[in-house]
Amino acid sequence: MARDYYEILGVSKGAEKTEIKKAYRKVAMKYHPDRNPDNKEAEEKFKEAAEAYEVLSDEDKRARYDRYGHAGVGGNSGAGFGGGGMNMDDIFSQFGDIFGDGGSPFESFFGGRTSRGRSSGQKGSNIRIKMALTLEEIQNGVTKKVKINKQESCTNCNGSGAKDSTSVKTCSTCDGGGYVRQVKNTFLGQMQTTTACPSCNGSGQQITATCTKCKGEGRNLNKAEVEIEIPAGVQEGMQLSLRGKGNAGKLGGQTGDLLIVVEEKPHDSFTRDGQNIIYDLFLNFADAALGTKVEVPTLDGAVKIKVPPGTPAGKIFRLKAKGLPSVQSYGTGDQLINVNIWTPKQLTKEEKVMMEKMREMENFQPQIGQGEKGFFERMKDYFGQ
Ligand SMILES: [Zn+2]
Ligand SMILES: [Zn+2]
Repeated sequence: MARDYYEILGVSKGAEKTEIKKAYRKVAMKYHPDRNPDNKEAEEKFKEAAEAYEVLSDEDKRARYDRYGHAGVGGNSGAGFGGGGMNMDDIFSQFGDIFGDGGSPFESFFGGRTSRGRSSGQKGSNIRIKMALTLEEIQNGVTKKVKINKQESCTNCNGSGAKDSTSVKTCSTCDGGGYVRQVKNTFLGQMQTTTACPSCNGSGQQITATCTKCKGEGRNLNKAEVEIEIPAGVQEGMQLSLRGKGNAGKLGGQTGDLLIVVEEKPHDSFTRDGQNIIYDLFLNFADAALGTKVEVPTLDGAVKIKVPPGTPAGKIFRLKAKGLPSVQSYGTGDQLINVNIWTPKQLTKEEKVMMEKMREMENFQPQIGQGEKGFFERMKDYFGQ
């Protein structure tokens, strides 16, 4: 003989809807299978309470039950629902409404159920490579193709690690759910936690025969050509990261990243200073004194510049926007031309005679205070605008 629904939930015949809900919550928590693992009696009581709630929470069903008893809501079977009773999935989906307020101690349990089907694989590792670049490449940005050894998803099994479709079966430990529940005793009472199933790592599947190509790993080590786009303006030591271009994970797990550490190749003519490019120009003394036109290299080809008469050593000419762009893509640096006076290390007799004459000339005596720039002013020319 089936028990009285009001009795099961411990409420009076005239109980309000909210009271019934509250009572059911209490009973369901008490007999919840997570709190009573492998306890058949608790499971029966849990199902019984779910049935009682199913009827008493529905006005129509409740009225029929009040009038006709169990017969009014699905025949004489103790289960009350066409003889089949409620299955666990029905009960749990009903829970969504009752415990959906976030305050449920079974929250993690429901979380676990909804995360089902997540890949079991471990994330692949990152690959770090160094890439040496010329200033010319840095100025314009460059696309490089490199060959690297990396783990790639197995093409034979699509990363599953299984020999074929018949060699995959539902995991017996977790029944395919991918999660196992554990009950822990805490000072708040019993709490249950959900963790990935240790037998299948959360995939819900077990492989009975492994793929021969990857030996069940779901990935293979290949020599792969990767195309890498280097943005303009990168700097020595900068790390670029290409998401998902690293090693493939095991068994379809997430792919790691490819990390590129930028190195700058030394340049024959230029020194880099931030976004500026510095070029040392050597003039002979006569050219500096008389003025001339000289050709200087830049990152995009040679240009002619005018050297006015009386150009001192340490003078800085600025070629606007001939430097490097910013990697954040605003502004471009300049090329700075630093004037040096070339001094010969040895002189012929004839040269010596000429130089001795010049040495005595009045115009060749240093005249301080005629607009020549000291060290700090020249530094301002370098770094300021
Ligand atoms: Zn499992
Ligand atoms: Zn394979």
